[in-house]
Amino acid sequence: MLSDNYGRIITSLRISITKKCNLNCIYCHQEGDDIESLREVSPGTISRTVTAAAEFGVKKVKFSGGEPLMRHDFENIIAALPPLKDISATTNGVLLAKRAASLADSGLDRVNISLPSLDKENYAKLTGSSLAFPHVLEGIRAAIDAGLTPIKLNMVLLKGINDSRIDDAIHFVSGYDGNVILQLIELMNFKNISRYMVDIGGVEKMLESKASCIKERQLHRRKKYFIDGVEVELVRPIDNSSFCANCNRLRLTSSGKLKPCLMRNDNLVEISENATVQEIGEMLKRTVEKREPYYKDELKQVICRT
Ligand code: SAM
Repeated sequence: MLSDNYGRIITSLRISITKKCNLNCIYCHQEGDDIESLREVSPGTISRTVTAAAEFGVKKVKFSGGEPLMRHDFENIIAALPPLKDISATTNGVLLAKRAASLADSGLDRVNISLPSLDKENYAKLTGSSLAFPHVLEGIRAAIDAGLTPIKLNMVLLKGINDSRIDDAIHFVSGYDGNVILQLIELMNFKNISRYMVDIGGVEKMLESKASCIKERQLHRRKKYFIDGVEVELVRPIDNSSFCANCNRLRLTSSGKLKPCLMRNDNLVEISENATVQEIGEMLKRTVEKREPYYKDELKQVICRT
């Protein structure tokens, strides 16, 4: 098992496979990737890293980017993985319609699809593309047909853009007969865009007032609200020490560095191209040693109480 100095056990790996993207979202954090290197991590390094992590009990892998579907070898990358409980990807969905079936055949279990606005014009302003919106809708349909479900529809909350349209998003998702979960994400201010920050406490209260049932996930202690037959998940990373206290993720950057935390790039561990599974296992241990909660207060209390 990979357990850090705060007792957090690593069960999942988030792998960025490229910095390239076919959209240019105004808010994108690009997985906190190190921007200097344009090298793209090879399928072999990904496979060996996941194999080493799986030997330590990691059961889940999520691919991200950039846009993971910009990699033409994405199907090969997935097919080369060892058996895992859950293999997923987060995608903007633009290129998904053509590849949903081949990705599912390669072993992808499910996808998260980013859709920051249901309004075509807003979507174009946010993403820099006036043509992409209908392709995303086709991508959602193709992903359902390929069984890449449940799909999570990721909507980063943006003040004045989509924060007053949450009801519309719930209604939109209800049209997919339980195949789609709405995931509302608090904006992380990576690009000096604090003017779009939403009062997330207000969103939480609104969801509470509408929900027939509320559950809590172990990952990051995320809340799930059941509203009019739709599952709505709220991701609240900011100033949220319980988010960090329950973080079980390690990251691999698109240039092949192990990354202990989304928020930092001063503690990366580089994997050399010819490193063996055993050597990567040692690197994983070193990376986990470096893990520290970004927001810590509640964690200290938890440690005091136990
Ligand atoms: N291109 C893919 C996509 O659009 O899903 C993958 C990359 S994107 C960085 C991965 C996830 O990060 C998406 O769900 C997106 O909504 C989320 N995300 C991006 N920027 C964010 C930000 N500033 N704050 C919170 N979440 C963000």
